[in-house]
Amino acid sequence: MSVERRSEIEHPRAMDRRAMLRGAVLAAGGVLLGGALGVSSGDRALASAIPKVYTRADWKARAPKSPIQVLAKGPTHIVIHHTATGNVSDRSTGHAAALSRSIQRYHMDSNGWSDTGQQFTISRGGHIMEGRDRSLQATGEGGHVLGAHTADHNAHAIGIENEGTYSSEDPPQELMSSLVQTCAWLCLVYRLDPQKAIVGHRDYNATNCPGDKLYSMLPKLRDNVGGRLRDQLSHLSHFAGRELTIEELPSYPEVPRGERVATFYHGPAVGDLDTSV
Ligand SMILES: [Zn+2]
Repeated sequence: MSVERRSEIEHPRAMDRRAMLRGAVLAAGGVLLGGALGVSSGDRALASAIPKVYTRADWKARAPKSPIQVLAKGPTHIVIHHTATGNVSDRSTGHAAALSRSIQRYHMDSNGWSDTGQQFTISRGGHIMEGRDRSLQATGEGGHVLGAHTADHNAHAIGIENEGTYSSEDPPQELMSSLVQTCAWLCLVYRLDPQKAIVGHRDYNATNCPGDKLYSMLPKLRDNVGGRLRDQLSHLSHFAGRELTIEELPSYPEVPRGERVATFYHGPAVGDLDTSV
């Protein structure tokens, strides 16, 4: 895996910068959570790179059935999903919270998983919600919560569920704007190249997810994330000249014909190679 190679070639100074980043992101997380941590101007520049994310406490999540596994190594890929739910018109935070609760209920009670499968959820109103337990904390520390959203790839892929069904309809602008922000934040934290890291669920599993429309927008999403990252990096001298060389490319299985259609079902989410759900 390229991840191992990447960590091997990192020189000490790079590690120092990474430690600084993690500290800053943690501090910013404190601000996000309403903490009273002070941040320097440099840290504020980093904090501005972090979008507003509603926590599990905000949407009144249930506790997971069993402790969530957190991997020390960050993900190599960001997987874009759609929720396969209705394209509702309600853009409120209340609706986003209710959506998060309904997904959690389905994943725990119908799928029998320990908790929500994905790490983050974005509503059609553009509200970004923490998904699986400890996801915000893990990202702040550069680690990775082992999720259940992309079969056989959960150990190295972080999942974003986008509310709606995008087989024939475009996602709302509010959703896409928040998706760009979220992906840029994750690419910054994990040092990912958006051109290589951002993939659709169908790139890994035989599924239509995230829908033909949203899937066709991924090249533009990658470009927009790259543009946002370049803007951010120009303000963050810590990261000057840091090019990632993640060489792992996804495979491209055929999109099946006649995939079953069901609310919340968006293709294979757990496979034999995944150690837990
Ligand atoms: Zn999916």
